[in-house]
Order: sequence, then C-alpha cells, then structure tokens
Amino acid sequence: MLATDPRTEPEHISISKSKGIAIDWRDGHRSEYGLRYLRHHCPCAVCTGSHGTTPAAPPIDPSPFQMYQAALKMNDVEPVGHYAVRIAWNDGHSSGIYSYEHFRKICPCPSCTGATTGTGPQG
Ligand SMILES: [Zn+2]
Ligand SMILES: [Zn+2]
Repeated sequence: MLATDPRTEPEHISISKSKGIAIDWRDGHRSEYGLRYLRHHCPCAVCTGSHGTTPAAPPIDPSPFQMYQAALKMNDVEPVGHYAVRIAWNDGHSSGIYSYEHFRKICPCPSCTGATTGTGPQG
C-alpha cells in the first residue's frame, strides 16, 4: 500500500443531512458539496451507467406518490471503512458509496474544476 495521500485524507467532515457535506482535507483544502450535487455525482453503477453511456437522469422508482417531490435529503450517512461514506437518500437510493478519492475528484470549487474567473467566453 502506498502512503495515504493528504489530498484524499479528510481532516474533518461536517455532515448536514439537509444541506450537504463539507470536508476539510489534510492538505488544507476545503470542499463543500450541496445535496443535489452529491446526488447527481453518485458513483454507483446504476447512476453512472455501467455501459459507458451517460444516463439522462438518475433512475427513480415508479411510485404512486410522484405527484409531489419531497425535498432532497440524506436519510443516513455511514462510514465505510476508512476510505468512504455511504449515503442513503430520502428518494430511496442508498447504494452510492462515496470514497474520499471520489469526493476530492468532484470537488466543486473553482480551483479544482479549473473554472476561470471572468476570462474566456464559454460556449
Ligand atoms: Zn447511485
Ligand atoms: Zn476544490
């Protein structure tokens, strides 16, 4: 095993089931993830599509209660070993295991997404 990478080693994790997750990394970086962002970036095979295709939308089980959409929420967040957390959503989906590596990879902050500030027209 390689030595742990401080970039994928969480120093502190704050979890708000109704807001999202914030992680302070050992290398001093801070990442904040909103609920919808996390749900959208669920790493499980169902959500990412196992055939290399991009699914149009997260799968939603047909239910008789689709006349309203409850606000997205995390029902439960449980640690998986020392490398990941598993998030159970209130839409019934709970197979997403978010490794810290994945968290760091999907960090939405400008310096990680490579977003430029104000320069370079997009699109
Ligand atoms: Zn998923
Ligand atoms: Zn970042």
